[in-house]
Amino acid sequence: MPVNKDPQPSRARLIANLVLWVATGLFLINVVASGFFGSQLTKEPYSMFIHRVQDQEVLRASVGQNEIRYQVKDEAGQPGPVYATTPIFDLQLPQLLEDKGVEFAAVPPPRGQWLSSLLSWVIPPLIFIAIWRFFVARNGGPQGALSIGKSKARVYVEGETGKITFDDIAGVEEAKAELVEIVDFLKTPQRFTDLGAKIPKGVLLVGPPGTGKTLMAKAVAGEAGVPFFSISGSEFVELFVGVGSSRVRDLFEQAKKQAPCIIFIDELDAIGKSRAASGFYGGNDEREQTLNQLLTEMDGFDAGAATVIVLAATNRPETLDPALMRPGRFDRQVLVDRPDLKGREAILQIHAKGVKLADSVDLKQIATRTPGFAGADLANLVNEAALLAARRNSTRVQQQDFGEAIERVVAGLEKRSRVLSDREKEIVAYHEVGHALVAAIMPGSDQVEKISIVPRGMAALGYTLQLPTEDRFLRDEAELKGQIATLLGGRSAEELVFGRITTGAANDLQRATDLAEQMVTTYGMSQVLGPLAYDRSQRNSFLDSGMANARRPISEDTAKAIDLEVKGLVEAAHQQAVAILERNRPLLETLARQLLDTEVIEGEALREQLKQVQAV
Ligand code: ADP
Ligand code: MG
Ligand code: ZN
Repeated sequence: MPVNKDPQPSRARLIANLVLWVATGLFLINVVASGFFGSQLTKEPYSMFIHRVQDQEVLRASVGQNEIRYQVKDEAGQPGPVYATTPIFDLQLPQLLEDKGVEFAAVPPPRGQWLSSLLSWVIPPLIFIAIWRFFVARNGGPQGALSIGKSKARVYVEGETGKITFDDIAGVEEAKAELVEIVDFLKTPQRFTDLGAKIPKGVLLVGPPGTGKTLMAKAVAGEAGVPFFSISGSEFVELFVGVGSSRVRDLFEQAKKQAPCIIFIDELDAIGKSRAASGFYGGNDEREQTLNQLLTEMDGFDAGAATVIVLAATNRPETLDPALMRPGRFDRQVLVDRPDLKGREAILQIHAKGVKLADSVDLKQIATRTPGFAGADLANLVNEAALLAARRNSTRVQQQDFGEAIERVVAGLEKRSRVLSDREKEIVAYHEVGHALVAAIMPGSDQVEKISIVPRGMAALGYTLQLPTEDRFLRDEAELKGQIATLLGGRSAEELVFGRITTGAANDLQRATDLAEQMVTTYGMSQVLGPLAYDRSQRNSFLDSGMANARRPISEDTAKAIDLEVKGLVEAAHQQAVAILERNRPLLETLARQLLDTEVIEGEALREQLKQVQAV
């Protein structure tokens, strides 16, 4: 088990108490002392003093901050009685004294006085704190009110037992591969720094809830055998202004002392929300300060001196402030996605190790039935099944327990995320293969790398991942048309196979239409409208980039023509997509069936199959 160390508060409290007692003591001494040694001189008003100076009655003066003592001449012109006055702030005084031949010096304020004025500032707050602490202690309220600024970071020092390693994680192989590198950085930093390479400071783990982001961060610490400071973003956002940022400072201070180590900030979005998007009223100052402090700390520490790697996790990367993603901050992002079929089976295996399974249990079959489940859902599933078996007074967990548990977990899950029905899965499979087939032969479409029907995020039910094969800045007309056709490939496949259309293609249509409109209004690719830029936002992108549809003022006829052209482009692309899919119907069927089986087709296997696509 991770050891939960909380080393600071007790010492902080001790010091606070000490300060309190010493201060009280000094205060009492001061009260007594001023009683004994306090000024016994006759006081005169300041104006009287000035008169005396001007009349050259004053022999010498000692000018203190709170009191001026001066000796006047007696009738014989000899040193006479000493008086005192309370000065007002007067910059002319030294000049006046000099002009009138007064011997004068500025004295350090008498001991009793500076002490009492200092203490008059220090004592009341201390008394206040003492009273506060008394009440807090009596109510059993928040621990240690004096230590509010202290970071609540928990330090996990990895012991021999309960150490989390990469073996405890499955189904997120790419993410694991990325993090293995981080472990190397922590273990042998000099191997990289000797070469002149800079060790990354920040790695952002991005993915839906329950996919194992926290687990992975712990595994990195476990594998590297370094301390692991963990704090959650939501803990930063506190009632007291300024606490969040001092906590960040504290956290980094502690961490630097223990380098090499890992700082893990869970739920980064709680503090890292985009400042621009934080609302009309200027957002939350406290969160902004905390965010700024985090940025400062990350920029501040030198990667060469101490290896502190900041890992952070979020399931809402789109809300993060772009400043967090700059080079030298969280410039590495690792996607921790929901597992595919093989991954789910592996995760089930990990979690099934701790329970007694009957021979009848077929984990592969369970994995097949649980698309869209994240790691945490699968862990939960195994536990539910074990509980159900226990309720039946069975000594082993049977396949039927898993069946029942799936239904329970799904019922819970349906509220949070989508779990596809078999029918929906089929539609999504054809839809995605449709995209892939059209993309395979249309010019300008990037190479299809992966087709998946594992639901991802809240929006996409499935996805087709295309990777650009080269960096492209210019695209020609044919290529843009190809892209539009590819976007329509999904919907066309649905039409062709099921004879009807679902709502799943809405995003595709939006993008296709936008692209077509750009061709017409921005790139001047329409024969009818000619090479004119109707889209004003391109030209004045600095001035009115915020305004959607900022078209040049155009006549109604032109507007109609634009709409017709856009519609024509999209419709032509649609026909083309349908034609391609009709021609390649057998391949469409094969791939869709295969996808339903494995949920993911990718890499070389996919490319081989897509080579068979025939042009129309
Ligand atoms: P996140 O931080 O992404 O929300 P967690 O790391 O807190 O998810 O995961 C919660 C639990 O779910 C883990 O402790 C682990 O038991 C299980 N789990 C999640 N993902 C995986 C995975 N990829 N492999 C094995 N177990 C996982
Ligand atoms: Mg987490
Ligand atoms: Zn689509």
